[in-house]
Amino acid sequence: MTRTPVYMDSHATTRVDPRVVQAMLPCFDTEFGNAASRTHAFGWRAEEAVTRARTHMARLIGADPKEIVFTSGATESDNLAIFGAFEALRSKGDHIVTGATEHHAVLDPVARLQSRGARVTVLPVDRDGRVDPGDVRRAITGRTVLVSLMFANNEVGTLHPVAEIGAICKEAGVLFHSDAAQAVGKVPVDVQALGVDLLSMSAHKAYGPKGVGALFVRRKNPRVALEPILFGGGHERGLRSGTLNVPGIVGFGEALRIAAAEMPEESRRLRALRDRLHQEIAARLADVTLNGHPVERLPHNLNLSFAYVEGEALMSALDDIAVSSGSACTSASKEPSHVLRAMGRTDDQVVTSIRFGLGRFNTRDEVDYVVERVEGAVTRLRALSPLYEAAGGGARFSRR
Ligand SMILES: *Cc1c(COP(=O)(O)O)cnc(C)c1O
Repeated sequence: MTRTPVYMDSHATTRVDPRVVQAMLPCFDTEFGNAASRTHAFGWRAEEAVTRARTHMARLIGADPKEIVFTSGATESDNLAIFGAFEALRSKGDHIVTGATEHHAVLDPVARLQSRGARVTVLPVDRDGRVDPGDVRRAITGRTVLVSLMFANNEVGTLHPVAEIGAICKEAGVLFHSDAAQAVGKVPVDVQALGVDLLSMSAHKAYGPKGVGALFVRRKNPRVALEPILFGGGHERGLRSGTLNVPGIVGFGEALRIAAAEMPEESRRLRALRDRLHQEIAARLADVTLNGHPVERLPHNLNLSFAYVEGEALMSALDDIAVSSGSACTSASKEPSHVLRAMGRTDDQVVTSIRFGLGRFNTRDEVDYVVERVEGAVTRLRALSPLYEAAGGGARFSRR
């Protein structure tokens, strides 16, 4: 028997790994010091714990520990990267290049700068959700100060050609920011090899706690200067004032230490489960299409459109399975997915999409259970759909 509800929404958030919880617990108890307290052992021990976490993170992405700035999450990291770089480079230019499938944590700060007079280019993507590096090269002008393109998309899992984009930015002498909230801990990320200057990360997408993230800020080749967006005690070398969230940071560090150790094995396992989910669904149901790049995609992502079945209705029918839908994908908004639209999907394909996000704690039994439930629910909903009937879909029932 599969324990329900089944959680399959790991692009929204992930359960905190029990090993991460264990690592965090002392920070609430005996090790409760303020990492900025320089005058006693409570502070020193907290600072040591933060340094250990910084080292784990830096190692995972090929950075120096001094290049890690702790924040409250990827949203803040994106804001700091975009506002901070734009402000610091104001005398050099006023143009930002970004992409149509970015998270709102990038699109909204960029729109804010545009409303204050910045020039903005939003690059299109192809049907698989990828930016053409040639478009990036052509978009850069003498006034460009920042290119911001995500590492992995949160809806369809598509991986951008980050290394090629990094090389183009380097050649043009333009800073390259990448929102890697979905990628860090899931796929290899090496800021040196990829030529990334600013990289946003989030703990809760990688089995760490909510409310903590980090921004990698390159210090060599080039040394990136940022204007802070928060002012106060001058923590994090003046880039992010505010008492450090020591328990969160310790949890984040432990989460990434585990990710570094287990990534090859875990991504193999998740890719196999994800492919099983996809193949079994496609074998049982007609008119199912994949959204996202077939290969250059996060190993745990599966975004499907089920023709003639509204995602909202399907989610209601799958009431013991946690997934999300392209018709209301960014939970806080009710806008149909700007990502699927940018990928050239029709309105019908957008509203019939469902995102499955597999994770560390999913089992094969759960995958098989989800396949059964999806088959049943889609078949039932299609039987009720006049559109399906009209399209001659009823005939396909004889498939099973
Ligand atoms: C989740 C997510 C964010 C926001 O991260 P928080 O830590 O929740 O602020 C930003 N970008 C992407 C791509 C995400 O998936």
